[in-house]
Amino acid sequence: MGGRARAEVELEQLSKQIRYHEAAYRAGVPEITDAAFDEMVERYQELADLLGIDPAERLDAQPGADHTAGFETAEHRVPMLSLEKLSPNRRDSSGEPMPFSDQLSAWFRRRKKELEIDELPVIVEPKVDGISVSLLYTNGRLRRAVTRGDGRKGDVITKQVAQLGTVPTKLAGTIKGDLEIRGELYWPLTEFARFNATLEKPLINPRNGCAGMMKRKKPAGLEETGIRAFFYQIAWDDGVELPATQNEALQWLADRGADVYLSEVFQTISEEDALRYCEDYDARRGTLDYDIDGMVIKIDDLAMYSRLGATGHHPHWGIAYKFPPERKPTKLLAIEVSVGKSGKLTPVAILEPVFVSGTTVSRASLHNFVELERKDVRVGDTVLVEKAGEIIPQVVEVDKTKRKRGARRFVPPKACPTCGTEAVSEEIFVYCPNPACPDQVRERLRHFASRQAMDIDGMGEVLVDQVVDKLGVRAPDDLFRLEVDQLAALDRMGKKSAENVKAGLEEAKERGLGRVLNGLAIRHVGETMAEDLAAYFKTADALLEFASRYVADDEEVVQTVAPAKSTERGAIEGLARKSADSIFHELDSPAVRKVFAGLADVGVSLSVKAADIRELAAIAGKTFVLTGTLPTLKRTEATKRIKAAGGKVSGSVSKKTDYVVAGDDPGSKFDKAQSLGVEIIDEAALLALLGEAE
Ligand code: AMP
Ligand code: ZN
Repeated sequence: MGGRARAEVELEQLSKQIRYHEAAYRAGVPEITDAAFDEMVERYQELADLLGIDPAERLDAQPGADHTAGFETAEHRVPMLSLEKLSPNRRDSSGEPMPFSDQLSAWFRRRKKELEIDELPVIVEPKVDGISVSLLYTNGRLRRAVTRGDGRKGDVITKQVAQLGTVPTKLAGTIKGDLEIRGELYWPLTEFARFNATLEKPLINPRNGCAGMMKRKKPAGLEETGIRAFFYQIAWDDGVELPATQNEALQWLADRGADVYLSEVFQTISEEDALRYCEDYDARRGTLDYDIDGMVIKIDDLAMYSRLGATGHHPHWGIAYKFPPERKPTKLLAIEVSVGKSGKLTPVAILEPVFVSGTTVSRASLHNFVELERKDVRVGDTVLVEKAGEIIPQVVEVDKTKRKRGARRFVPPKACPTCGTEAVSEEIFVYCPNPACPDQVRERLRHFASRQAMDIDGMGEVLVDQVVDKLGVRAPDDLFRLEVDQLAALDRMGKKSAENVKAGLEEAKERGLGRVLNGLAIRHVGETMAEDLAAYFKTADALLEFASRYVADDEEVVQTVAPAKSTERGAIEGLARKSADSIFHELDSPAVRKVFAGLADVGVSLSVKAADIRELAAIAGKTFVLTGTLPTLKRTEATKRIKAAGGKVSGSVSKKTDYVVAGDDPGSKFDKAQSLGVEIIDEAALLALLGEAE
């Protein structure tokens, strides 16, 4: 596979993971650290840049939006931003990988220049892997505790924090005025182990456990957990007399009864020493009673903070050093081949269970057979496992010194392991071409019912498996033909749940063409493409009619969506010639036509939702470019509304652009629009065009 195709696959996987973890975060059950999440987002952005993905098409991922239903929220007076990181992926202007030392030097240089100083005293602190919290003290008394949330506002957890008994509800001595302190709630490892031993169902790891505990609605009993906090920063104050440096501020907090890292803090003016302290600290990790995921290098002189400011994403007073991910050896017991919803065959490593970065790993995707061949992974090998972005288990490499004699290379399957159909290759992937393949049927139905597709309430994976195995469901339309009695007879169901599922199915009938298209698991048709196709064709009939003419090589039809010259844009944004060939052939296949007929038969709506095609004269046919952060609309949302009203959204400004919609911190597109004389409007004006102004 070319680098591009590889990047596209990675990007698609990343978007799924980001969505998943964002949802988990919002539900108050995060499975990964903020840092791991940010790393995924960073990598996503890097790939999206590399692939030239239109910014309007990108995931507008918000790191750590941790709101839990039922919690009051509060705005942060000073936003809780994430930190800039030294990144193993960073490259210099000539494309060479940049060592941490060079990255840190560049950071020191920039700060010294901005501050017009020759020497920059910094301090280095461990970065505890817990839950950030912002604590407001008035006249020394704890008045409010708020989670990081989306960085601008978070959930109020004052009662929960106060109940712990380990976070001072009153600072020692007499303090006048308001003061907001930032800290990290964490579960000491020994306390976690002690508490976990008393539970029937143990918690996975201290961080998740701590996050869950602090979002308990009823605080009673939290004092039993042993959860504590480290304080690392004073965010702002009103009228409190505070020391002038970060180091002294920590001492000041310690004197008032708050836990700080004083003994762990390293002060220096040398960037080399700062980096060495970070590297050396890694060795101490195992001896600490808390998890840390890196170090933070901060400017010591607090007066400088206000002179530095921040970008929209990171403050300028500090930079984080992240430890390399934990890597563990284990034995590869077997290589299984799994069949995906579109028939893709994926090799999966079955591992002797091993504890890595917080969870036990016993399976890891080997991605594809080319990758497997490149790494030369063989059954019986000792392999090194780590978690990419601390989440997805990966086989990094084989320890060849431990290879047993006679270990044989893995041979990619010639046939589908499930249905025995001869496998076909496309680029680097191998597919089972049989749409009736039992594994494919199951995976497709799971996808069809899932949240991103038809969102059928009550139809989870377990139920899908049952209706396939016991009720003979094979195609999406079969689902809608299920009777309440049939459903009620399944395991763990009953009349009431069966009725709910039936109601869920009825409701799903009205999701519209875009969701249906996404649900069919057609190769190259993800969520965005499905919506774009639906918006363009409006009905399944029009789409299928078009597909058959496309397949018949009807010149006129082929030209509209996929111009021969790759520089020209087709009528459907982002649809490349190669994908068009694949998509329309599949749509025109007897199997897919049969599904559409079946869905029409059971009354599933196969046209674009009426609400989605309110064409507006002020928008229709016009090209928009978005830049900067809009005050209320997310990029994806603005794009969706413009498209729904018949407009186009493009990633770059040209003379053909009708409007540039500019928000805060607009980029170079703003300047370009000015120089070309393109009309620049703000969000309010866009809403007015959309007919939504008050
Ligand atoms: P990140 O979210 O990875 O960009 O890093 C920022 C977060 O690191 C903050 O919101 C804190 O919750 C956490 N953190 C832990 N220890 C420290 C520390 N010593 N200094 C600053 N932030 C810290
Ligand atoms: Zn098969």
